[in-house]
Amino acid sequence: MPELPEVEVSARIAASALKNSQIEAIVIKDCKLFRPPNLTTINTDVPTQSGTIKQDFYWQSGDLLALFNHARPLAPYTLRLGKLMASLFEAKDGRVFCLFARLGMTGKFVQTSHETLPHKSMKLSLSLAKNLTETVTKGSPKLRLDFLNTRMFGQLWVQSSQQAVAQQQQLDTAKAIFKSEVLRSKMGVDAYELSAQPEEWLKHIREYAQHRKVKTALLDQSLFAGIGNIYAAECLFVAHAHPLAKFSQLSDEQLLLMANGLHESMTQTLVRSEGQGEVIYGSGLGPDSPFRVYGREDQACYNCDQPLSFLRISGRATVFCQHCQKLDE
Ligand SMILES: [Zn+2]
Repeated sequence: MPELPEVEVSARIAASALKNSQIEAIVIKDCKLFRPPNLTTINTDVPTQSGTIKQDFYWQSGDLLALFNHARPLAPYTLRLGKLMASLFEAKDGRVFCLFARLGMTGKFVQTSHETLPHKSMKLSLSLAKNLTETVTKGSPKLRLDFLNTRMFGQLWVQSSQQAVAQQQQLDTAKAIFKSEVLRSKMGVDAYELSAQPEEWLKHIREYAQHRKVKTALLDQSLFAGIGNIYAAECLFVAHAHPLAKFSQLSDEQLLLMANGLHESMTQTLVRSEGQGEVIYGSGLGPDSPFRVYGREDQACYNCDQPLSFLRISGRATVFCQHCQKLDE
């Protein structure tokens, strides 16, 4: 599964491509990618700051082509929480809509120049023209925002307000539509944001996860949206926490080390990936690997030189050091 930084990188790329752009054309190459979320769990009423609005769902190409025709990207262009992202638009008739994306294993947004041939796994392509300032007189620069998906685990769909929305309420409406999907899919607090706020992090764990086993709780998207197997393993190592320990067995100091480790390793990944068009993990899992435990089973622990151990917890591979991450009985 993708980790939070992959989704953040895709959201940043989409936002930068959509900024000050207008949509000139849309190509949908594979409709299988467009699927709505579970229709039985969908709520068509969305509470906004100025009252409840109705929303519609679109995943068929005819509807999508009509909706995107002369649509305008809406600042701040993308929203992300955990591993969910959406790009924001205003339709020609004034409706506000979110293009939701779940990246799956291999999905990502890329920005390319207008002339570049599409990648063979391109599934959706928005042709964009940058709006020019008056001081620039030459032809408008053109680019494309493409969604690539090699293995078809990604998912795209659109949620739109049923009615036109007044300009000053557009962003609030887009955020409310986004939040409706966060609630529907039972996602908790964004792990990247939460781990940057030590007091909130402690409070959240002591209140909602105190009696849960740490590794499974960290992967529970309804508690910590966005943490995957890599960052769970890494932050447990930093906090000297055994993956089978309960949060109640860990000190506040350990929890703060965990938050700091999580935030720092995600930030490092984002910094390393800046301008690269995708998440860069150095040279994989070799000697230059940025990971201290993930993917390093049987290799020497960086702290104590003992070989790292392997456990399967809830079906997920877990590498840790049984000397540095002891389980208190
Ligand atoms: Zn060790």
